[in-house]
Amino acid sequence: MNFAHIDGVVVSTDHWINGERISSSRRFDDHSPTDGGLLAQISRGTQTEADLALEAAAKAFPEWAATPVSERAKILQRMHDLIVERADDFARVESADQGGLLSYYLGERGIRRSASNYSAFAEMLLERTDSTFVDSTFHNQVSLSGAGPVVLINPWNGPLLLESWKIAPALASGCSIVLKPSEWTPLTASMLADVSAEAGLPPGVLNIVQGFGEEIGALLVSDPRVRRISFTGSAATARAIAAAAAPNLTPCSFELGGKSPLLIFEDADLDIAVQTAKRQYSNAGQVCLIGSRLLIAEQVYEEFLDRFARAMEGFVVGDPRDPTTDIGPLIHHEQFERVDGFVQRAKADGARPVFGGGPLRDDGSLYYQPTLLVDMEDGSEIVTEEVFGPVLTAQSFASEDEAIRMANATRYGLTATLFTSDEQRAERVAKQLDAGTVWVNCFWVRDLRAPFGGTGESGIGREGGEWSFDFYSEVKNTVTVK
Ligand code: NAD
Repeated sequence: MNFAHIDGVVVSTDHWINGERISSSRRFDDHSPTDGGLLAQISRGTQTEADLALEAAAKAFPEWAATPVSERAKILQRMHDLIVERADDFARVESADQGGLLSYYLGERGIRRSASNYSAFAEMLLERTDSTFVDSTFHNQVSLSGAGPVVLINPWNGPLLLESWKIAPALASGCSIVLKPSEWTPLTASMLADVSAEAGLPPGVLNIVQGFGEEIGALLVSDPRVRRISFTGSAATARAIAAAAAPNLTPCSFELGGKSPLLIFEDADLDIAVQTAKRQYSNAGQVCLIGSRLLIAEQVYEEFLDRFARAMEGFVVGDPRDPTTDIGPLIHHEQFERVDGFVQRAKADGARPVFGGGPLRDDGSLYYQPTLLVDMEDGSEIVTEEVFGPVLTAQSFASEDEAIRMANATRYGLTATLFTSDEQRAERVAKQLDAGTVWVNCFWVRDLRAPFGGTGESGIGREGGEWSFDFYSEVKNTVTVK
C-alpha cells in the first residue's frame, strides 16, 4: 500500500477497486500548483485496472440496485456526515492539490457544500414516487431503476464538488460506479473511497481508478458493460468520448465549457455589479460558469471600468493557504501557457489591458495577474474561446438588442448573468439569452433540485434533481387491466 502525506493528512495513492486498494507498477507524479513540489506518486491505471474496476461494478450492481431506498439513503447520509467530520482534512488536501483557496474549502461553499450534495440526493431519493396514469380500462405504472454500471469522468477545477454532483445521484438511483478523477487532482477522490467504505457502501459499488484520460479514461468509456457515461470537462474530450461510446450506444451526459456573458445595464446597481465582476476571478478564473465577457451599457461603461479597476486595487494573488489571498495559482504549466498564450495573442491583436495582462512573476511559478482586456475586435479569439484563467474582456453595447446579440454570439451556452433594476427588462432579456442558467441580479446560485448544464458546446443534458435521476435510471411502464 502506498500513501502520501499532504499537510498532515495521510492519503492513499492507489486505486480503490472492489473495496480494496490496488496498486499499479507504473506511477505518475502529482505536483503542487502552489510551489511546484512533488505531492504524490499515483498509481497509473491501464487495461488491467479498467477491467478489474468494471468487473467489480458489474458484479456489485444487481444487489445495490435491489437495496431498499431507505438503506441507500442512509449510506448517502453517512457519506455526508463523514465528509463533514473530515472537512478540514479534505480542505487541506484539496487546496494543496488544486491550488484553490484553503479559506474557501474550509467555508460553507467548500467541502461542506460537496458533502451536502450527498444528503440532498438522499432526501430527494426518499421523496420520489412512481408515476401512474389511469384511464377507464388501464393502469400505467412508471417505475425507475438504476441503469447499471456507470463511468464518471471529472476535471480538476473543483474535484470533490463536481464528483459529488455525479456520485450522489448515481448511487441514489441504484447504479454502481467507476470514477476516474483528473490526473492533475487525484487526491480527495482517494479520500472519498475511505469515506464510502466507512459509510457502509458495499465493495464494488464505488470504484475509483487513477490515471490519464487517453489511457484508462479512453478504455472505460469504450467498454460495452457501461450503461451511462457522465463527463465534465472540455468539448474536445467530449467529442472523443462520444465517438468511443457510439459503437455501444452508451448514453452520455456532458457538462462542458463556457464563454458566458455578464450583462450590466445602465440602470444596474453598479456596486453589486462591480463586486460580482470581481467574483469572476474566483479560483483564478478556472470555473466553467464564470461570466468572462463583461458586456456593459455604453452610458456607464467608462464609470464601471473605473470603479472595477479601483475595486481590484489590493487584490492578492498568492499562496492559497494564506487567509489574505484572493486567488491562488493556475493548476499546471500547460494551463498557464494556454492562458498566457490567449492574453499575449489578444494584446498583439490590439487588445489593451485595463489591469493585469501577464504572469505575476517571472520565476516559472503558476501565478497569473487578474486581467481585464478592452478594445478587442468583435469575433476575435479572446472574446470567443474559453480561456479558463483570470482573464475577462469588457465591451460596451448601445441597446438592449445589441446586448442580447453580443451575449448570444458564442458557441457556448452555459450561464448568463444580468444586472438591471428594471424587472420587465430582466424578464425580456432573460427569455432571449441562450444559456442553461440565467442569473438575474445574482450570481452562482445553485439549488441542487434545479437543472444545471448548457446549450451548444456547453454540453448535452442537465445535472441536478430529477434530471440526474432520469439520466442514471432505466424507465419502465407496466400496463395492467383494471
Ligand atoms: P479535459 O477534457 O482535458 O479532462 C477532463 C477529464 O477527462 C480528465 O479526467 C481527463 O483525464 C479525462 N479524459 C481526457 N481524455 C479522455 C478520453 N479520451 N477518454 C476519457 N477520458 C478522458 O478537461 P479539463 O482540462 O480537466 O477541465 C476543464 C474543462 O472542463 C473546461 O472546459 C471547463 O469549462 C470544463 N468544466 C465544465 C463544468 C460544467 O459543469 N459544465 C465544470 C467544470 C469544468
